[in-house]
Amino acid sequence: MIIVISGASKGIGKAIAIQFAQKKHTLVLLARGEDTLLQAKYEAQQFGAEVHSFVCDISNENSVKEVIQQVFEKIGVPDVLINNAGVGGFKTLANFSVEEYDRMMDINVKGSFLLTKYILPAMQHHKRGHIIAIASDVSKRTFYSGSLYCATKYAQDAMFSALRKEVRHDNIKVSVVYSGMVDTYFEGNVPSDKPERLRSEDIAQAVDYIVSAPGNVVIDELMIHPIQQEY
Ligand code: NAP
Repeated sequence: MIIVISGASKGIGKAIAIQFAQKKHTLVLLARGEDTLLQAKYEAQQFGAEVHSFVCDISNENSVKEVIQQVFEKIGVPDVLINNAGVGGFKTLANFSVEEYDRMMDINVKGSFLLTKYILPAMQHHKRGHIIAIASDVSKRTFYSGSLYCATKYAQDAMFSALRKEVRHDNIKVSVVYSGMVDTYFEGNVPSDKPERLRSEDIAQAVDYIVSAPGNVVIDELMIHPIQQEY
């Protein structure tokens, strides 16, 4: 399968890349930072998979359009799109600037929209495909200082839950993952095997389970938490 992963240079996206590289899928890795992206590509290639990488800012329409055009021309129509890239920001609402609001909305919501918009018609043409969103458990609950981040994750959840209804008759699956705390580079965290957080590999295995379901089965939603997390 051809699998496109946004935010594949670090954290959850990179772990998903490694998970699918071990199964020898053809991977398309996207992120903005070239060095970390090439490192992720190198690590995935060590499993013998065909791995492509493209520097792409998913919040920029031209960047997404150009990269997806290249994917169609050089690699083919993706079977799976994993909308994973995202950023956070945690403070009380009045302390956010308009620029911070735009950045979080543009990456978490518009970015997922753009990648899906430019890949979906080809999936519909071929009557197959699977779109996965790495949302969050805060797509379904709120917390102090999470006004903007929760808003982006609620929006992402709503967008893909509605999309599921649009595309099921085209044989296209839409799955949303609601994850609790994961030990990644998110918002300045440095991964260090924290028992109160999931590992990126835990999410990667959950995504593999979703993708591996039989053709007639769609896992619409998957909620996953570390057992120690209060939520
Ligand atoms: P991470 O370790 O910070 O990785 C984020 C990835 O997204 C990086 O590869 C980053 O690369 C990429 N990215 C950020 N902005 C981008 C843009 N504009 N265009 C393309 N790529 C971009 O974070 P993570 O924890 O793995 O987060 C992945 C997803 O999981 C996010 O959607 C997050 O909301 C969700 N999530 C995380 C947690 C958690 O506790 N960590 C919990 C629930 C859900 P560049 O910066 O080089 O572009």
